[in-house]
Amino acid sequence: MEQKLQSEAKALLEQGKVDYIIGFEPGSLKFTTTPLITKEKDDVDRLVINPFIVNNLANFLTELKGRVGIVVKGCDSRSVVSLIQDNKASREDVVIIGVPCLGIIDVSKIEALLSKDRDELDDITRDGNSVAVTVDGEKRELPANQVLFDNCLGCELSTPQEYDILLDEPTSPPADKEASYTGIDELRKMTAQERWQFWKEQFSHCIRCYACRNVCPACFCERCFVEETEPQWTLPIPRWQDNLMFQVVRNIHVAGRCTDCGECERACPVNIPLRRLTREMYDIVDDLFHFKSGMDKDASPLMTHYEQEEAEDLIR
Ligand code: SF4
Ligand code: SF4
Ligand code: SF4
Repeated sequence: MEQKLQSEAKALLEQGKVDYIIGFEPGSLKFTTTPLITKEKDDVDRLVINPFIVNNLANFLTELKGRVGIVVKGCDSRSVVSLIQDNKASREDVVIIGVPCLGIIDVSKIEALLSKDRDELDDITRDGNSVAVTVDGEKRELPANQVLFDNCLGCELSTPQEYDILLDEPTSPPADKEASYTGIDELRKMTAQERWQFWKEQFSHCIRCYACRNVCPACFCERCFVEETEPQWTLPIPRWQDNLMFQVVRNIHVAGRCTDCGECERACPVNIPLRRLTREMYDIVDDLFHFKSGMDKDASPLMTHYEQEEAEDLIR
């Protein structure tokens, strides 16, 4: 896939079909990648495809002017479709380079399973439904469903269905619905009072860095409500009440746009389990409106669509 990506990306730039390529290059830490945004055809040799291409690159689409070739996994492709539906990107200006995705490896799960730090791991390779980890010269096989991100275990579209170039045959990660709902099911069983205490405790750690918002392709307002001063919806100091309010409003704003890509939770520097909110909202949207963001490119955006016979006077 990597070779095909590099040659396709080079051809797109050489033929002037795109102004930019957005993909992944190796990160500075072991087992990481970082976004690569380039106009230079010589840079495409740095593009990689591996089990660590975690970022949802659709996030950059709203920031670049011109035609863009973008590397997307299934969930990211749903974000691209959602942005097109919201008129935040134009289909004509995007060349979608699809990666059939086997799921992304969560290195922190390997660290926990093997009681080793990332730097102590020599190598990690993916082979079908298992992951081989080499430590101290010894190879350990781990089942993939123990080391993939939780959202990958509940993935609903691993191979993009909207694409211009598909880098390989369709594939999918091992499904493990129970594991993908780790923590979420526990919260659902709690009383409202217990849930309140849980989130009160979690959001007392929030430092309001806005990383969760900034990595999210569905969070695209030019001016976020938290930065408004007239009226001032939240105080800028990170009190738990304002932190919780920020996240509740954010979840409502991304309802019908969130694709469960998992980026907000991954980006949180204080490990607040944000997916327990976003996945809950994702499921509520599905239950109430039978709507899954970015799955049907011909669908109208959920939150801007209404019908004459709507029950509420407010939007009639
Ligand atoms: S959610 Fe699906 S498409 Fe997205 S990274 Fe995980 S397995 Fe891949
Ligand atoms: S990323 Fe975490 S700490 Fe930062 S604003 Fe979001 S919830 Fe708070
Ligand atoms: S809310 Fe989180 S999981 Fe949903 S699209 Fe945004 S970053 Fe991805």
